[in-house]
Amino acid sequence: MSNAEAVLIVGAGPIGLACAISARRRGIDPLLIDAGAIAESIVRYPVGMTFFTTPDRLEIGDHPLVCSGAKATREEALMYYRGVARVERLRVRPYHRLETGRREADGLTVEVGRVLRGDRVAIRAGRVVLATGYFGHPNRLDVPGEDLAHVSHYPEEAHRLAGLDVVIVGAKNSAIELALAAYRAGARVTVVHRREGLKPSVKYWLRPDFENRVKAGEIAVRWETVVRAIEPGSVRVESPAGAAALPADRVFLLTGYHPDYELFRRLGVEIDPATGRPSHDPATLETNVSGLFVAGSPTAGRFISEVFIENGRFDGEKIFGDSVSRAAAASAGADRPVGE
Ligand SMILES: Cc1cc2nc3c(=O)[nH]c(=O)nc-3n(C[C@H](O)[C@H](O)[C@H](O)COP(=O)(O)OP(=O)(O)OC[C@H]3O[C@@H](n4cnc5c(N)ncnc54)[C@H](O)[C@@H]3O)c2cc1C
Repeated sequence: MSNAEAVLIVGAGPIGLACAISARRRGIDPLLIDAGAIAESIVRYPVGMTFFTTPDRLEIGDHPLVCSGAKATREEALMYYRGVARVERLRVRPYHRLETGRREADGLTVEVGRVLRGDRVAIRAGRVVLATGYFGHPNRLDVPGEDLAHVSHYPEEAHRLAGLDVVIVGAKNSAIELALAAYRAGARVTVVHRREGLKPSVKYWLRPDFENRVKAGEIAVRWETVVRAIEPGSVRVESPAGAAALPADRVFLLTGYHPDYELFRRLGVEIDPATGRPSHDPATLETNVSGLFVAGSPTAGRFISEVFIENGRFDGEKIFGDSVSRAAAASAGADRPVGE
């Protein structure tokens, strides 16, 4: 690896890869690093999961995403993104984590941890793009027992839950999808949510299925209920009706994620305390640190669900494009869907 790069892109998820393609098409050969594998966030989706977005809207660099059904599975998306990286000849260094960095007179110097070697290297770059997503940073409940071995902030393959008491905290798409899959795999499922009812953003094909399972008594639900503590074998909850202990062999806290605010701050990026948005120019995505850019969901701060693959994939055009492609990218993002 050269230690001096024109452009360093941090995060080889769909948006980081799309940014790299935008750069390549302007004659720049960026280096991409990722703390995990290519598309690490999708690697962490449950095995066999199907995207809710149609394949054409997951495509980057005009490469067709061909899949066997109407929507792509996790496995098809992984093959697609790593195939695109290959045919676009992108220089990707997996398992390289950006730790910190600083602005210097002639560019940025960043410290990168080589996860598999256990050491660190410094890289100097003229421009750095942070396409780091949010999946590494769950919104914690901060309750006792949250870090016990049977507790997870990520959905899991439903088969592993067969025959178990499962408590799922949250009422967005991931929580409802896991509740249905776990029930069908043979788990005894209880959904706990601090408010009454499902989020309006729950997909139209999940909502009636879930509501019918609840009506039939096949999935239990506790609305207006908060988690007080997690213990081996149970979750202590409280609601207007009083306190209760729910049996729980496995507990899933699917209460959302947030960008790596600490990393942004270490790099000198200002974060708006109200929205969690990193300070940036919406036309060019350059942050308040000259030469440091942000792309994809972190641009939305706490409102991560405003930026999906389908609208974030044009962010590279804002960073590397001319005024015409910048305007096209801005209008492509204008009809941003509200989801998760
Ligand atoms: C279960 C589930 C289903 C979803 N379904 C859809 C869908 O149908 N359609 C849709 O559009 N979106 C969907 N999403 C959202 C989608 O996954 C994200 O919008 C998308 O992954 C964002 O792409 P990204 O490249 O910005 O971030 P990510 O895919 O999260 O990529 C960020 C990358 O940065 C890396 N990284 C983070 N920090 C560092 C660091 N310090 N140093 C180096 N690398 C770092 C990570 O390892 C990761 O690979 C879904 C999300 C979930 C959880």
